[in-house]
Amino acid sequence: MIRKVDHVGIAVSNLDNALKLYRDTLGLKVEHTEDFQGMKIAFIPVGDTEIELLQPTDPNGALAKFLEKKGEGVQHVALRVDDVSKSLEDLKAKGLSVIDEKPREGAGGAKIAFFHPKSTMGVLLEICQRD
Ligand code: ZN
Repeated sequence: MIRKVDHVGIAVSNLDNALKLYRDTLGLKVEHTEDFQGMKIAFIPVGDTEIELLQPTDPNGALAKFLEKKGEGVQHVALRVDDVSKSLEDLKAKGLSVIDEKPREGAGGAKIAFFHPKSTMGVLLEICQRD
């Protein structure tokens, strides 16, 4: 069961510059920041969903490659589900291409899995469970 848009992940080349927009200009509050698997991430709640600003710290990681290819912008959309394992199997069975064969730990302690944009009309789609 899909509950809501959990967060939108936005790739930025410099988090401090991005915070000038999201925090200082838009007036949003940064809940916390985290270094996670080659990324520096700022979590910014907006209503009952979130923006996650993602700056690569590993030049060889997937996020750095995304920035090189596409530049800054929306990188992925995450949907909140009750049970990430169940949703992953279900959506796989319905023909979506998985990037993660099994759920894994995401930033902020979530359980996550990604689907390949080629099966989701160009959007890197994440499903995300928070207990
Ligand atoms: Zn995400």
